[in-house]
Amino acid sequence: MTEIERHSYDVVVIGAGGSGLRAAIEARLQGKKTAVISKSLFGKAHTVMAEGGAAAAMGNVNPNDNWKVHFRDTMRGGKFLNNWRMAELHAKEAPDRIWELEHWGALFDRTKDGKISQRNFGGHEYPRLAHVGDRTGLELIRTLQQKVVALQQEDHRDHGDYEAYLKVWPETTITRLLVKGGKIAGAFGYVRETGKFVVFEAPAVVLATGGIGKSFKVTSNSWEYTGDGHALALLAGATLLNMEFVQFHPTGMVWPPSVKGILVTESVRGDRGILLNSEGRRFMFDYIPEVFKEKYATTEEEADRWYDDPDNNRRPPELLPRDEVARAINAEVKAGRGSPHGGVFLTVVGRMPGGAEEIKRRLPAMHHQFKELADVDITKEPMEVGPTCHYVMGGVEVDPDTAAAVVPGLFAAGECSGGMHGSNRLGGNSLSDLLVFGRRAGLGAAEYVDSLGDDRPVPDQEEIDYAVAEALAPFERKGGESPYAVHADLQQTMNDLVGIIRTEKELQLALEKLEELRARAAKVSVEGGKGYNPAWHLALDLRNMLLVSECIAKAALERTESRGGHTREDYPQMSPEWRKVNLICRLVGKADDPRVEIKRQEMEPMREDLLALFDVEELKKYMTPEELPAGMRAAA
Ligand code: FAD
Repeated sequence: MTEIERHSYDVVVIGAGGSGLRAAIEARLQGKKTAVISKSLFGKAHTVMAEGGAAAAMGNVNPNDNWKVHFRDTMRGGKFLNNWRMAELHAKEAPDRIWELEHWGALFDRTKDGKISQRNFGGHEYPRLAHVGDRTGLELIRTLQQKVVALQQEDHRDHGDYEAYLKVWPETTITRLLVKGGKIAGAFGYVRETGKFVVFEAPAVVLATGGIGKSFKVTSNSWEYTGDGHALALLAGATLLNMEFVQFHPTGMVWPPSVKGILVTESVRGDRGILLNSEGRRFMFDYIPEVFKEKYATTEEEADRWYDDPDNNRRPPELLPRDEVARAINAEVKAGRGSPHGGVFLTVVGRMPGGAEEIKRRLPAMHHQFKELADVDITKEPMEVGPTCHYVMGGVEVDPDTAAAVVPGLFAAGECSGGMHGSNRLGGNSLSDLLVFGRRAGLGAAEYVDSLGDDRPVPDQEEIDYAVAEALAPFERKGGESPYAVHADLQQTMNDLVGIIRTEKELQLALEKLEELRARAAKVSVEGGKGYNPAWHLALDLRNMLLVSECIAKAALERTESRGGHTREDYPQMSPEWRKVNLICRLVGKADDPRVEIKRQEMEPMREDLLALFDVEELKKYMTPEELPAGMRAAA
């Protein structure tokens, strides 16, 4: 009989990035016995890779900034498809979450008068990103980990056990959520080092597993981003929202091939970097879309003046939202004006008043990255860059205030949740999202546990047996295909057919190929033991990547318009009718062979006081006339 360890908690948080740690800290602060589970090493989450900073309207660099401006920028960036309540909470609460981090020991870069410094980023009207050079995520995670340790010290003092109320489970992968009577009862997984199975009994689970990038061939994401939280939620009966919106960051490295996709932070453009084509032309001026025309400079002179005098000049078009810049680069390369390795040039040479020394000081990680990986000195030469799959805006459908998913006891925060960023996320808005909604998810989970009293669902043995059998299946099958081959074909399919520019024909072909890949994945086999067996791990992750990919492809086929991170060559316009529509994914069919079903869901109309923050002329570009409040309709 398979040996299974069992542990009991009030709240189980799956994921130890920024959102997971913030959720776990909150649940523990609410007095709940909490586990944080991470398939990677503790401290190695995507959050650690975040470079540019965390967006919060603190107004430290430009006092005109406030939550209303941040809210407007976020809605514009998301092309008004955002869950407006989430965008409101995020804009209002982000400053408090940053100050809280500082209180817990984070050492942000400072302004001359000693405040937390803030930098410019695409789509943000004012300098707004609190940062630590270009290594902000590292400081964020370090601070949250330090807070975890501080709480564990308190628990040791009060209860004689460091892990009495907050235990970290590093290198432990969850493969199934356990559901009893329609409610969360726990989670099932394995310890990567030994392969030993573990059941976590808990009435509340917070998903904080991050993104999905490993389904695509060219990506800035690392091995953990296999869409586990998205798939776990679907398999537990929850819903995903707007999965067609995948962000292709405009600037990933394109050369050498071994590092293709690695991120080149947007701070390079925020700190005066410009994009050039092979003719040396600053091409972004040719790609300012109608909806943003009034806000962006039309000459190089005005764009350059903006860095020193933002109140009297308009922003450089290099700082348009990411979807716009990524499409522009794609178009330049397609038109034959690309760089030698299929990207365009990004340069800071001669752009900073302090010369090479300032470049090294402001962009230390980028200087190091290009020198080490491409033998390019960015103080003397341009970088070659092109779009890379970076972030998923779609995710678990949640209640904006409590982060609760539709399955009682299930919560989600951070990149694996959906709604906050609409069709396109602004840079810097993820780190602040993690803190705002991580805290809310921890709070929501704690309140839910309290509401249950002693009436806690207990996992069924039958469900645990199913999870064990599913996990062991790749060992039972003999002579099957390698999971690596299936993964490589999946990544190629998603890159070629569900990438930055999409068409009906290609999406249909992608769905056919996904069906074939699903059949192949069901037959993969692995050899060796259960301890640190990467082929086995990948075989299990394939289920998640395939489910998520099916959601993306089906939703992309359904949405016949172009908006944010979803561009349909056959439907190039943004449609006011589609703006009101969320696409919801759920699983239907047999439990052991489920299919993704997509349903349209009408969005809740935006509250009038929030609508009133925008100019009616701007709203008219996005909304149908009926959506405008009566007063505005008259003005229109
Ligand atoms: P993560 O930090 O990725 O954490 C996910 C956790 O879940 C990990 O611990 C992982 O091991 C765990 N996990 C996953 N699956 C399982 C499973 N099945 N079982 C157990 N554990 C599991 N955003 C910004 O706002 N500003 C920036 O400057 C910025 N720069 C970025 C730079 C790079 C290179 C990248 C890739 C992203 C950047 N982003 C930035 C985006 C941002 O970093 C991420 O969106 C964010 O960190 C995600 O945080 P998270 O808490 O949702 O997930």
